[in-house]
Amino acid sequence: MKLVVQVRLLPTPEQAAALEATLRAANDAATWVAALAHTQRVFRNYDLRRHVYGQVKDRYGLAAQAAQHVIKKVADAYATLHAHVRKGNLGRPGSVRRERVLARPIVFRPGAAQPFDDRCLSWQLDARTVSIWTVGGRMKGVAFTASADQLALLAAHRKGESDLVCRDGRWFLIATCDLPDVPVRAPDGFVGVDLGIANIATTATATATGTGTGTGTGTGTGTGDGVRHSGKTLNAVRHRHRELRRRLQAKQTKSARRLLKKRRRKEARFAADVNHTIARRIVTEAARTGRGIALEDLQGIRDRVRLRKPQRVTLHAWSFHQLGHFIAYKAARAGVALVHVDPAYTSQACSACGHVAKNNRPDQETFACTSCGFAEHADVNAARNIAARGETGWAVSHAA
Ligand SMILES: [Zn+2]
Repeated sequence: MKLVVQVRLLPTPEQAAALEATLRAANDAATWVAALAHTQRVFRNYDLRRHVYGQVKDRYGLAAQAAQHVIKKVADAYATLHAHVRKGNLGRPGSVRRERVLARPIVFRPGAAQPFDDRCLSWQLDARTVSIWTVGGRMKGVAFTASADQLALLAAHRKGESDLVCRDGRWFLIATCDLPDVPVRAPDGFVGVDLGIANIATTATATATGTGTGTGTGTGTGTGDGVRHSGKTLNAVRHRHRELRRRLQAKQTKSARRLLKKRRRKEARFAADVNHTIARRIVTEAARTGRGIALEDLQGIRDRVRLRKPQRVTLHAWSFHQLGHFIAYKAARAGVALVHVDPAYTSQACSACGHVAKNNRPDQETFACTSCGFAEHADVNAARNIAARGETGWAVSHAA
């Protein structure tokens, strides 16, 4: 499996200036190549290289490998764009949006990611430095920070290119690690994960007995059943940022726009941290208990999380997809079985008797079965249903 490790570089001011000049040259070159590709209708890497390779090197002072990466980056960007167009993601043929996008060449930001291969970038993990090619020559001893876990991953599994990227004046290297596949263990039962807004994730097993046991909210350490990972902190941060955004948007100045962008990234980083923590807890607990994990299939998430503000739906849908992705790769790393289940009626069905009714759920938090009288926190009941479907799904797919 592929895994991405992002480390932050800590360049001196001189080193930062060299990195900036390099990234700018590479992206200026990419924008120039993209414009040429657009006017001449040449989009394939091989064809583009024949057209522009020499000029990219000479005009922008790029080394051979850097020039090749620039050209490939442009070819890849157009391939992605054209795939989006084919899939209809930019609207039907003739639609305003689609025509507008296709009428203009792709433009690369000065700080956009640029790949560096092993000839242009080497890692000194013990010293926590890298040596990197720049337009001013090879630059040694650029410091970076990384956790012990990240260092171990880099040492054992880093492979191929790493991306240099600058965000909000901060420098990062994004390295790809190629890990051997861990065989999936046959699960002893499943834990179901219900996604929501008040509680980002609620976990429960299908075979839980008793009602409302161990409902640790917020920072629950994940023992037993019905653990709710509260969205309180995250929602508070989002709310605070939304207020700030409103004020900044009203200003419409350049500095306000820049600050807005910075805020948005900060919020995304915080949300990713929260998702990482939740995913780690869920997977660690499943690994410890020998269980598999059942996740909702998120295809219909937009319909399920029905909110008045479309912007919020997008935000939450995006966040749920990220959490699902984190859980999936952490589970794969730990050899924990993962099953995606159909989430239809998981919130309305009784996890004790199977009775489905809308009024089984009188309010957001409460589940009370109108048939058998079973009562539980609504999210825990839903998670139990998801766990049960996970067990069925696994049994079906492993029957043969
Ligand atoms: Zn019931």
